[in-house]
Amino acid sequence: MLLEIVQVGDPVLREKCAEITEITEEIIALAENMLETMYQANGVGLAAPQIGRALRLAVIDVSHDPECVSFMTVNGEEVDMLEYMPLVFLNPVMELSGPRSVETEGCLSIRGVRAPVGRPSIVRVKFQELDGSIIEVETDGLLARAFQHEIDHLNGVLFLDRLSPAAKMAIRKQLKGIG
Ligand SMILES: [Zn+2]
Repeated sequence: MLLEIVQVGDPVLREKCAEITEITEEIIALAENMLETMYQANGVGLAAPQIGRALRLAVIDVSHDPECVSFMTVNGEEVDMLEYMPLVFLNPVMELSGPRSVETEGCLSIRGVRAPVGRPSIVRVKFQELDGSIIEVETDGLLARAFQHEIDHLNGVLFLDRLSPAAKMAIRKQLKGIG
């Protein structure tokens, strides 16, 4: 089922989302609907607040570009990124490392705006999967960026908040009317 994607200005995008304490049928159905909604919108990630639910749940799929990471490990073992897509992650805890890299980002909740965002290049994320198991993923590239973008959403942070003053200036016309 396709869900409506909330747009910037809606207060749910600024909420600190709640931990998920029990993985119910409803949560599983929500994750499935979020994946369907993300694919239909041609996104690489979608967080629960973007569909109006302030829960620590997000989905990512970067398999459209097999070369977009240089490595991925799960619980310390090197894995093939494609075999782990799509990712559905709950209650993530993230550590950042590596040099900062700047890439253009957009957001399904901020239509028509794209801008360069600097972020650390490597993440280590510990999270719960839909079956309740806890895994730790380390990676770089687009997947590391997507984790950071989606986990920001779970804390009420939007990529606009992370723009340099110059990047903000460059897109100020597009930002008009966005709170
Ligand atoms: Zn977003």
